[in-house]
Amino acid sequence: MIRIDNDLIDFISNAAKNTYPNEFAAFLREDKGIISEVVLSPFSIFGKNSSTISHFSLPIDHTIIGSVHSHPGRNGNPSEGDLNFFSRYGKVHIIVRYPYEQDDYFVYSRSGESLEYEIIWAL
Ligand SMILES: [Zn+2]
Repeated sequence: MIRIDNDLIDFISNAAKNTYPNEFAAFLREDKGIISEVVLSPFSIFGKNSSTISHFSLPIDHTIIGSVHSHPGRNGNPSEGDLNFFSRYGKVHIIVRYPYEQDDYFVYSRSGESLEYEIIWAL
């Protein structure tokens, strides 16, 4: 089961809302088995209708386990470009769709399969 820190969900939702109608994108960092931090890169914010997540500069950092990006519409499914990126980098990929509430989170594996996840309220 994928575990995600509640504070991180808040952070991502806010970032996605602030970036709307553009996409927000960043890397995910895991700490003690919980996805708890995003790592921004200079390429983290993309233009409208962009699916250029593959343009990320990929960091060499073993605490980074995947990526997160927003979809400024109601579709939470990975695009072909997303799947291509997922298969090449990391093992957990989050897509959050508009309007970026808790129900709008989708977690995918490297191969694009939907993963179960739980939200953790850290102390
Ligand atoms: Zn996408």
